[in-house]
Amino acid sequence: MIDINAIREQFPVLHQEVNGHPLVYFDNAATSQKPQRVIDALLHYYRFDNSNIHRGVHTLADRATEGFEDTRKLLARFINAAESEEVIFTKGTTEGINLVAQSFGRSMLRQGDEVIISAMEHHSNIVPWQMICQEKGAVLKVIPVSPEGELLMDEYARQLSPKTRMVSIVHVSNTLGTVNPVKKITEMAHEAGAKVLIDAAQSVGHLPLDVQEIDCDFLVFSAHKIYGPTGVGVLYGKRAELEAIPPYQGGGSMIRDVHFEKTTYNDIPYKFEAGTPTIGEVVAFKPAIEFINELGKPAIHAHEDQLFRRAMEGLKAIPGVQLVGTPAEASGIVSFLLENTHLFDTGMLLDARGIAVRTGHHCTQPLMELYGIEGTCRASFAVYNTVEEVDYFLESVEKITSR
Ligand code: PMP
Repeated sequence: MIDINAIREQFPVLHQEVNGHPLVYFDNAATSQKPQRVIDALLHYYRFDNSNIHRGVHTLADRATEGFEDTRKLLARFINAAESEEVIFTKGTTEGINLVAQSFGRSMLRQGDEVIISAMEHHSNIVPWQMICQEKGAVLKVIPVSPEGELLMDEYARQLSPKTRMVSIVHVSNTLGTVNPVKKITEMAHEAGAKVLIDAAQSVGHLPLDVQEIDCDFLVFSAHKIYGPTGVGVLYGKRAELEAIPPYQGGGSMIRDVHFEKTTYNDIPYKFEAGTPTIGEVVAFKPAIEFINELGKPAIHAHEDQLFRRAMEGLKAIPGVQLVGTPAEASGIVSFLLENTHLFDTGMLLDARGIAVRTGHHCTQPLMELYGIEGTCRASFAVYNTVEEVDYFLESVEKITSR
């Protein structure tokens, strides 16, 4: 059991009124709020330790480097990577996928090769693959999704072939909340000789996640969705896979020796970290992970699942509410539409009552096309949300539908 009041106390942003009502923040799939310790760490870094990392011989450079590398070590343990060198810092999930699509794609994709994604991918796991497939003459295949919002695994099995080079799949759908069977997906891809990338943007802060157990080759996520700062992401890759692909960007830090005739590259992780990274933000990401670790993922998941089930059941019982996607296994995200109200109006009417939800296609336009809708209203939960907030949200939806 978690102490919800003790958790909420740590998030200063939650303690405000919006449009005359206490803020109810249900837009956590877009970005989460930050605990005071993350804000403090960012301030502390810029106040006391600001310096560039890795090359310095002075005290501030040492402190900055230590803070930066400490976060990497903690992250390796957080996702159970075999070693911290397998953790690459990026700007976010989007950059992580672009990195793999470009580096893996440029070196490994040939004319006629195939890449498999799914119909529920975020644009950031569609467009980078479209771009590289177009360049290389490779074929992009899409695993279809059932009306309930589940991947058609039989179709996936049929799509896999010796031509498949990469399977890139979202762990938890940011629109439907579907939890995909990533371990099974990975096993099947490996049997076909393909590599696997998992987009863990919506899972890593909510569900237990172990990269060695999934056995994926690459996995990406963003700090800002799991209580950390913006501008920081993680690309996990197995050492052998990271060593097999070329650097993404050239510049400082990623080199060993530069000569006009020939440049040699640094070892992982630095080979993929060209230029000055977002140092303060990486340093301040550490307390966000510590926050999650202190609570424990099982407790976080149990709490969020309770909110999710209450919201789903409550919405089902309100006449005029259409749920979009009702997968058997879902995590913390509810998408819905109201019969008599346009989704943007629903969002604004909820905002007028202090409730923040997201409305639109959630960067999953092909999925919305499949459902024949423009978008959805999406409520997504974090560990600081409460049962009372869910009840107030349900009461508000009911008020809007019965206008
Ligand atoms: N994938 C999924 C499943 C997401 O939810 C998001 C963020 N909405 C992204 C990728 C992109 O993340 P970012 O914008 O932090 O790069």
